[in-house]
Amino acid sequence: FNPPLPQNEPVLDYAPGSPERQALKEALQEARGKELDVPMYIGGEEVRTDTRHKLSPPHDHQHVLGYFHEGDASHVEQAINAALGAKAAWEDMAWEHRAAIFLRAADLLAGPYRAEVNAATMLGQSKNAFQAEIDSACEMIDFLRFNVAYMTQIYAEQPESGAGVWNRMEYRPLEGFTFALTPFNFTAIAGNLPTSMAMMGNTVVWKPAYTQIYAAQVLMRVFREAGLPDGVINLIYVDGPVAGDIIFNHPDFAGLHFTGSTGVFQQLWKTIGANIGKYRTYPRIVGETGGKDFVLAHKSAEPKALATALIRGAFEFQGQKCSAASRAYIPNNLWGDVKRYLLDDLKTIKMGGVEDFSNFVNAVIDERAFDKIAGYIEKVNESPVAQIIAGGKCDKSKGYFIEPTVVVTEDPMFTTMCEEIFGPVLTIYVYESEWFEEALQLVNDTSPYALTGAIFAQDRYAVELASQRLKNAAGNFYINDKPTGAVVGQQPFGGSRASGTNDKAGSMLNLLRWVSARAIKETF
Ligand code: GLU
Repeated sequence: FNPPLPQNEPVLDYAPGSPERQALKEALQEARGKELDVPMYIGGEEVRTDTRHKLSPPHDHQHVLGYFHEGDASHVEQAINAALGAKAAWEDMAWEHRAAIFLRAADLLAGPYRAEVNAATMLGQSKNAFQAEIDSACEMIDFLRFNVAYMTQIYAEQPESGAGVWNRMEYRPLEGFTFALTPFNFTAIAGNLPTSMAMMGNTVVWKPAYTQIYAAQVLMRVFREAGLPDGVINLIYVDGPVAGDIIFNHPDFAGLHFTGSTGVFQQLWKTIGANIGKYRTYPRIVGETGGKDFVLAHKSAEPKALATALIRGAFEFQGQKCSAASRAYIPNNLWGDVKRYLLDDLKTIKMGGVEDFSNFVNAVIDERAFDKIAGYIEKVNESPVAQIIAGGKCDKSKGYFIEPTVVVTEDPMFTTMCEEIFGPVLTIYVYESEWFEEALQLVNDTSPYALTGAIFAQDRYAVELASQRLKNAAGNFYINDKPTGAVVGQQPFGGSRASGTNDKAGSMLNLLRWVSARAIKETF
């Protein structure tokens, strides 16, 4: 059964004088002009507490946008109870009605809420207007619309029957409540994790990263305005270990949908494993975690396209993408040209706050991220085997700004070549152009991750060899393109090894994890 798939939401270009630019400027001004007061949402109630925390733009950390209300263990209990209480009515609701709510949410985001959600992503996460548009508008809308289409496909998928026998598959939601633990770096991912579970009839406790709360609550308001019943998704801001302690000890915990660091995911998996006998079911565990994504060039690659891909892949979104290009292997016959293009292009890149739409690079998310990234840059400065050829300056006086930084190393095992930095740092290893096979082996063997990667080559034998040898080195593999920017419905996203369970976000594979099928045989 192949229902027509939706079109991807067109990306608006925010050209000077365009209505979308005007609307966004007004939304930014409005957000800056008022003091936000962000409640949690539990069982349909707005919940406020006495513990309020500041919300500030990472590019202007002394400015106070407003406050969010932090919860404690009692709010985790309440959210679980609200999810369990809403479960029966929600799972009994005909799927068309569940679908209609999420399609309406997509339309609200495409229209009346577009400027507000983009402004929240720009101010809360320091994304520029174009990055916010791609993330909180287009990708979020695509997740909702495509997932609805995939859901209809799943429900229509039925086994063979014959005379005297009617076989049916019933795609039941999981038994219990589910938990969405979402990251700061993509508003769309934060919104997709709870909604994809809810769509399939599950009820959800949703805990976003504290640095993404501003846009998360805008999404929550959109879902509610679209008709999401009380208690289906419960949005809480509670310290991770406090929430985890209650959720992972609860007999009705039925599934975890996670995007975040490899270390945290492994810890959660261990906790769930240690508690396995306590649960009514085997909880589903889906996680997208770290990456150390590669760009490998063959001697036949086109140097200009390669340099552009390196800049966009490494520095867009300040490199705060699991998919960011962070290690590159360039043959020495191309290095002179690639280096020149890189240095020339980097000179034209502007860095600064998001309110100036011409800034390409903005601030990283918070002080902890800043210090970690600056620490890696410091390691390069101290190393005899690596050097910075562009960028390297870090300044957190007003905002958490780190210049796009290019490191060249003669050691393919150098720290910044192997460890995830999650910031605007690209490390390059220049290899002897005839040693392509060795380079393939380095790409495959020197990182525990396998999220995204790219091969640049004009020679088809090289493309084929890389596709084969790097079969397990990336869940999203790009040929002559940057390793970032997967589009919902076109390149389902996810990786394996230390990068996650590879249950591709925004795909049927992912939605199937949130159902537990019942096979029914009826004889006449
Ligand atoms: N889906 C995004 C991309 O393809 C990356 C998401 C992430 O950073 O987790 O670039």
